Formats: sequence, structure tokens, C-alpha cells
Amino acid sequence: MTHNFSAGPAILPREVFEEASKAVLDFTNGLSLLEISHRSKAFVAVLEEAEALAKELLAIPDGYKVLFLTGGASSQFYMTAMNLLPQGGKAAYLDTGTWSAKAVKEAKYFGDVEVVASSKADNYTHVPKGYDVPSDAAYLHVTSNNTVFGNQMQAMPDVHCPLVADMSSDIFSRPIDVSKYDVIYAGAQKNMGPAGVTLVIAKEAALGKAGRDIPTMLDYRTHIAKDSSFNTPPVFPIYVSMLNMRWIKAHGGVSAMQKRNSEKAALLYNEIDRNPCFRGTVQAEDRSQMNATFVLNEGFGDDATFISMCTAANIDGIKGHRSVGGFRASMYNAMDISSVQVLVDVMKDYEKQFGQK
Ligand code: PMP
Repeated sequence: MTHNFSAGPAILPREVFEEASKAVLDFTNGLSLLEISHRSKAFVAVLEEAEALAKELLAIPDGYKVLFLTGGASSQFYMTAMNLLPQGGKAAYLDTGTWSAKAVKEAKYFGDVEVVASSKADNYTHVPKGYDVPSDAAYLHVTSNNTVFGNQMQAMPDVHCPLVADMSSDIFSRPIDVSKYDVIYAGAQKNMGPAGVTLVIAKEAALGKAGRDIPTMLDYRTHIAKDSSFNTPPVFPIYVSMLNMRWIKAHGGVSAMQKRNSEKAALLYNEIDRNPCFRGTVQAEDRSQMNATFVLNEGFGDDATFISMCTAANIDGIKGHRSVGGFRASMYNAMDISSVQVLVDVMKDYEKQFGQK
């Protein structure tokens, strides 16, 4: 068995892959899921179940619509601003890493963007706190979990305006209070499903107020009116995401995922803190439960040796992102704690060999 620590596309439950592969061969009436109309009864039922499961798992209140769109989370960087940032108005952004910075860049096409705080000067080793949000900001945009740097917001700031959040790498990993947000978005390929679909949760009352003309495909209201089927939706990624949401529900929902994720993260971070060879790159209180980033301490061997020991133990996807270096262990919902234990055991082995300076 390979222990998949990849940051994304990432691990999904084995059962989900098995069920999904059956649907590729015979989904309904001898036909593949990939060859039936997206308007067929069989596929509409998938879409409806996916929406219902997202609503149930995330306790999404009335007044919000769940959408399954294309274009990745990257398209949401501009779609959120285009739909929510009023013409001539202002929006606030919290910069906790590359993904936040990309969201800022795109929002600037549509209005005044104020970065209220940034941890860039510290290479995003923490999540800024204690900043002010301008009183005229239409919303505050945050990245709940920064996949690259391994920081995660443990709590959302208490602010006067609605939040807009990129939850690409921690959606469904813990309960959230949807009522605080105008829009939540997430590329599926980390904790939800395969690449190709983007989950958007939009507050209907917040839309249609930006005072600008919006191209049809980029207007959330288009997709709301047509239940994510204005054009052909990404049928396979939606189906697999639906299967994964069924799996999350069958395993106790997002509270149970949070417990599972906390246990995995505690196991790994305890070892990072205990083992003299390694150190975490993010301040303890802002460490991500999804993506743990860590490096070797000076004088304790080299990255390539640790990576090759991981490879020998069937660990995949552990190499850190180039902007942080070292290692990154992504431990999404589907990962079992036994895989984290395998990694911890390799770290202990490494210490035995290289733990003396
Ligand atoms: N936001 C975050 C937090 C991400 O991790 C990623 C992808 N790694 C993106 C946005 C971009 O997503 P996509 O590739 O779906 O556009």
C-alpha cells in the first residue's frame, strides 16, 4: 500500500474509487456515467444528491445555493470580486500566502482592494491577527488553509462585514458557520473529489448588487437559476465528489473528520517537535491540520536522504513546495492515522541514523 501525502490532487477513500470505476463502465442501463446526458434523470439525481449532501454536511442555512462550477478555485479569485465588490467600492483581503496574494491580484481588476494584514515578510509562517477591517469594506476575503505554507486559520475573525473564503484545502475537514460568509469556494481536488469541479456556496441575497455588467458564465446567478447546469457541468468530478460526501457522512460527518484530522496532526506535530532532526515551519498555533510543513535542522543530514527513506517505506508526495523547501505531509480526510504512523516511524529511523551532530 502506498501512503499518499500529496497536496492535491490528493488521496480519496478507496471505496470511492471502486464505486466511481464501476460507474465508468456501467452507471445506468448498461451505459457509462461518461456517456449519458447531463440532463438525464440519472445524472440530475447525482447533482441533487451532491447538493443535498453538501448542505447537510456543512449545515448550510436557507438562502444559500450550492454550485458545482468549472475553472478551479483560481477562477473564483475574480468571480468573487466581480460578483461582490461594488463598482467603485472596496474589499478587504487577508494575505496568508500565495493563494491569498493571487486572489488580491484578481480582485484589483474590480475595485479598491485593501490588504488588511500580511505575513509575507515572515514567509507566511503565521496567520496575522488583530488587524482592522475598513468600515466601508464590502467583505473580508480569507484563505482558511494555505496549502503551500501549511498555515490554517483556527478561528475566523470577528468582523463587521461578511467573509468570503477560499477553503480549497480544508473544506469538509471541520464544521464551519456558513452564515458568516457571502461566498465560500473550494477547488475539489484536495479534500472533496477529483480535479475539475469547484464547489461554490453563495448567499443569494448578496448577489446582484455589484452594479456592473457580468458576462453570463461568470455571474453566479446564471448558475443558481439553472442548478449548475447552465452549460455542461463536470459530470465525473461531481459524481466522485458526491460519493466522497457520502463517505464523509457515513463516517460521522465533518465533526468526526475534525476529530480524525486533529489526531493525525497531533501525532505528526508531536514527532516534529520531539525529534531533534526536524522543525516545523509554521508557528504552533497556526499550524495546518491538513498540510504539515517541516524541514531538517541544520547539520542533520539532507532532504534527499529523508525522501529516499520515505520512498522505501511506500510514502509518496512528501516533498515540500519549492517556496518552503523541506517536506509537506498532506493529511486530508481520507488518510488513515496508520499512514501518519508510518511517516513518524521513518522520522524516528532517520533520527537513529542522523540524530547525532
Ligand atoms: N486556493 C488554494 C488554497 C489552493 O490550494 C489552490 C490549489 N492548490 C488554489 C486555490 C488553486 O486552485 P485551482 O488549481 O483549482 O485553481
